[in-house]
Amino acid sequence: MNIPFVDLKSQYASIKNEIDTAISEVISNTAFVGGPFLKAFEEEFAAFCRTKYCVGVGNGTDSLFISLKALGIGEGDEVITAANSFVATSEAITMAGARVKFVDIHPETYNIDPARIEEKITPKTKAIIPVHLYGQPADMDPILEIAAKHDLRIVEDAAQAHGADYKGRRIGSIGDAGSFSFYPGKNLGAYGDGGAIVTDNQELAEKAHMFANHGRADKFGHKFEGVNSRLDGLQAAVLSAKLRHLDEWTESRRRNAYLYNEYLADTDLVTPREIDDVRAVYHLYVVRVPKDRRSDLQDFLRSKASQRASTTPSPCRT
Ligand SMILES: *Cc1c(COP(=O)(O)O)cnc(C)c1O
Repeated sequence: MNIPFVDLKSQYASIKNEIDTAISEVISNTAFVGGPFLKAFEEEFAAFCRTKYCVGVGNGTDSLFISLKALGIGEGDEVITAANSFVATSEAITMAGARVKFVDIHPETYNIDPARIEEKITPKTKAIIPVHLYGQPADMDPILEIAAKHDLRIVEDAAQAHGADYKGRRIGSIGDAGSFSFYPGKNLGAYGDGGAIVTDNQELAEKAHMFANHGRADKFGHKFEGVNSRLDGLQAAVLSAKLRHLDEWTESRRRNAYLYNEYLADTDLVTPREIDDVRAVYHLYVVRVPKDRRSDLQDFLRSKASQRASTTPSPCRT
């Protein structure tokens, strides 16, 4: 039996009516770009992130890029980020015209090591992009302290961390801006590409909104050249329907992760480590194994998967 990495078909089957209704409402209203479905989702997602504003954009890479542009970061500037993120994080910095400065990760959390940030700061440094990789919150307190001390902006890359918390604060609401991806396989996934920026800063939200829509202030007024990167109505309606289930899905991810921790406790696999006082959302459950034993582990897991197929149906669904 092949256990799918992400089972979006069974997820759809479990909420088919809600999704089908949402899609047909958008089509009957022909509210494809902008419109009420986008506005509703932006309000719901801002509330979910505990921020004042949410700006829907075309994808998670653009949400990072547009956040940087709206913060006035570009040519001649440097932006610090984690060395191990998905390529989109550094791509967005380069797209904005700035230079990427990588900081190494903490060996146990796999997130940016705050103790190593200051050595990379120069007079050109303008911002830090901490990445909450695999849904594990990065250690924000020391990062906030460093940013305040050096007058740097923070854009959280929360593409893998929808609904995670750090010391009682929602991930995405802690920095100047939080950046999300709604790529289908993410914890909150659209039925195509999508992304969003959340912030409490009204000016930043307005700039980001305009930049993502050709620098447009009103129908015929364009204040500056931006890009076309919008979250469309169909995606927004799908996301609204799925957002209502996200807490429940996150709880089942967390339960599964803790079960894995229990089952793997007596092995020599290194299992994910949460820092204190966080709610991790386990976009991925990543284990570390010595390189020379990697293929043995794969073979072992494959043999277990076929055993399971012949005895019980898979209980796992995310
Ligand atoms: C998915 C992802 C992105 C980019 O999102 P897209 O929607 O695919 O553009 C950025 N950063 C991280 C950490 C991601 O996992």
